Amino acid sequence: MNEQTKLWKLSTPIDKKNSAIIEAAELLKAQQVVAFPTETVYGLGADATREDAVQKIFEAKGRPADNPLIVHVSNRDQVDELVTEISAIAEKLMSAFWPGPLTLVLPSNGRAAKNVTAGLSTVAIRMPSDDTALAILNASGLPLAAPSANRSGRPSPTDAEHVMQDLDGRIAGVVDGGPTGVGVESTVVDCTTENPIILRPGGVTKEDLQELVPGIIVDPALAEQDKQPKSPGMKYTHYAPESPLWLIDGDERFFKEQLQQLKDDGDRVGVIASSELAEQLDHEPVIVCGSREDLTEVAGELYRALRQFKKADVDIILCETFAETGVGAAIMNRLQKAASQKIIQH
Ligand code: AMP
Ligand code: MG
Repeated sequence: MNEQTKLWKLSTPIDKKNSAIIEAAELLKAQQVVAFPTETVYGLGADATREDAVQKIFEAKGRPADNPLIVHVSNRDQVDELVTEISAIAEKLMSAFWPGPLTLVLPSNGRAAKNVTAGLSTVAIRMPSDDTALAILNASGLPLAAPSANRSGRPSPTDAEHVMQDLDGRIAGVVDGGPTGVGVESTVVDCTTENPIILRPGGVTKEDLQELVPGIIVDPALAEQDKQPKSPGMKYTHYAPESPLWLIDGDERFFKEQLQQLKDDGDRVGVIASSELAEQLDHEPVIVCGSREDLTEVAGELYRALRQFKKADVDIILCETFAETGVGAAIMNRLQKAASQKIIQH
């Protein structure tokens, strides 16, 4: 694939007549793929009802075909057009959290393209709250399949520049609406079982969901994945930075010891740390990803931090662990995957 990727820089506030929005929507209607901001991360959009258009997403990302995509909609009618039924609990979740970073897995009526659902009988749908995303959805009039706009395996893009790093020359265009807010992807909830199941932690927290649906459960596979180290040969990484990432699970003293040991061995070490830990370290380079006391801030900075260290500069990246409460569950889920489960425990 080698095409000219058009980059539109938006000035805010945007309106429906914005020429970038109209051009992006025209390309999407012509079965092209276009990246745009959502409130979580940048998405790579294509007409969710057209297999040929969706195929271009898989090609541009290098994404395995068995990983289904989330369909983004701008209104409720578009949901009805894609599913066979909506349970009372799904209705409740939609009215409480949409538009926003919550994806619902619902029974598909087959209108979403086969490659969107990876052949499953269900379809994952969400309504984003970002103005630019909604303007593009409205202008195109299409439901848009839109996974994160990165090459498969890399950290998700929270800025248009990250999209260009990965996909320049591989997609029709990028709408630059500035940095995204939430910084981690949506929470995915399976609503096809009696008790809904959280399949992926994300922007809407388990605590928020439990308040509304006390019976909601967390997919047991998530916990297993977090605890069992993967066998060395099975290294299918996600969100991976250029150099290996190790998570250091312990107090500040333990972190310093681990850091010193690597430096003594001659390794060039990059550190991703909270402002609290960074203050305690006498080390360069350190990327501060926010305060431990404000996990929302950490979520917003996480992928930027993971992208920042280059292979040419550091041999290894150390990062502290964070509390798994609130959005911390999503932060730790992404960090564990980015580190291929390499966690050094005190
Ligand atoms: P991404 O598009 O990279 O944000 O990833 C989409 C996430 O939603 C992945 O974790 C998928 O496995 C999940 N997903 C999408 N569609 C379905 C579905 N029909 N059933 C279960 N999970 C889904
Ligand atoms: Mg992704």
